[in-house]
Amino acid sequence: MKSKVIFSVVVPLYNEEEVIKESYKRLKSVMDGLNEPYELVFVNDGSRDKTALLAKEICANDSNVKLINFARNFGHQTAITAGMDYASGDAVVVIDADLQDPPEVIPEMIKKWREGYDVVYGQRVKRKGETFFKKITAKIFYRVLRRLTEVDIPVDTGDFRLIDRKVCNALKKVGERNRYIRGIISWLGFKSAPVEFVREKRFAGETKYPLKKMLKFASDAIMSFSYKPLKMATYFGVFVSVASFIYLIVMIILKLCGAMTTVPGWTSTIVITLFLNGIILLVLGIVGEYIGRIYDEAKGRPLYVIGEFVNIDEDQKDVR
Ligand code: UDP
Ligand code: MG
Repeated sequence: MKSKVIFSVVVPLYNEEEVIKESYKRLKSVMDGLNEPYELVFVNDGSRDKTALLAKEICANDSNVKLINFARNFGHQTAITAGMDYASGDAVVVIDADLQDPPEVIPEMIKKWREGYDVVYGQRVKRKGETFFKKITAKIFYRVLRRLTEVDIPVDTGDFRLIDRKVCNALKKVGERNRYIRGIISWLGFKSAPVEFVREKRFAGETKYPLKKMLKFASDAIMSFSYKPLKMATYFGVFVSVASFIYLIVMIILKLCGAMTTVPGWTSTIVITLFLNGIILLVLGIVGEYIGRIYDEAKGRPLYVIGEFVNIDEDQKDVR
């Protein structure tokens, strides 16, 4: 019989054929060095390249590696969720496949965990090899999110973290779609501590987070943790109503004094009309985003669909 797994390392993979082998090698050497039973949980998020094939090869030679093959691409946050669902360790580490999060930081996280922290998150003190655009948008995003939400979500912190079994179990009870996992973990509470690290350059290949996915990610984060965008619409509505009322009063006074002789210009009329229509559409869009998310929840579809399991016991297959 296999001994009880102490550490699980969850690795989401989307078109990572260029990095998977190196990533496995580095993770294996770090985890072997700990001399305690561990497992790697690979989640292949519907890759279109040879990732699945390579992952299966690794699994065939190493029974410490589990593989979950999604039926299609469900997205990074969902892949992490599945990995945590199927992880069986007392401590679960989530790490990107591209070696931007150095596996060598894991022992430091484990040390903190042994000191009694339930969540040990990696905080990026520096980001190497990323575009100026990525760095600046990430910086702004974390700070805007912090201002918008009441939950204390640490800044400059990705999904690279260690969580205790009890946090993992609590997370399984959160059935929310369009998830922002780091926010949910902060929302859960638990005793947490940072471990600082330098975010390295991607080992190979390109980012799997193009602008479209970044925007979806940012809107999920903000909308799952804040109603403020909806409130902004109210504030703006009040502001415009008050301003137009003041304008009306001023116009009446001018008319009574006989000071207004000409009809106001065409340009200003058009500008105000277009501006307000723009605002109305924007606000409708914001409301629509929330309604879309409510619709997703109402449908109650499963968070993900698994096409295939490798190295996972029959009795462990039904977790969510
Ligand atoms: N990823 C995923 N599904 C996706 C996009 C990304 O599982 O739809 C994985 C990817 O393989 C990697 C991690 O999420 O392990 C982070 O992605 P990436 O490194 O491309 O993001 P970046 O570091 O550029 O923000
Ligand atoms: Mg990366």
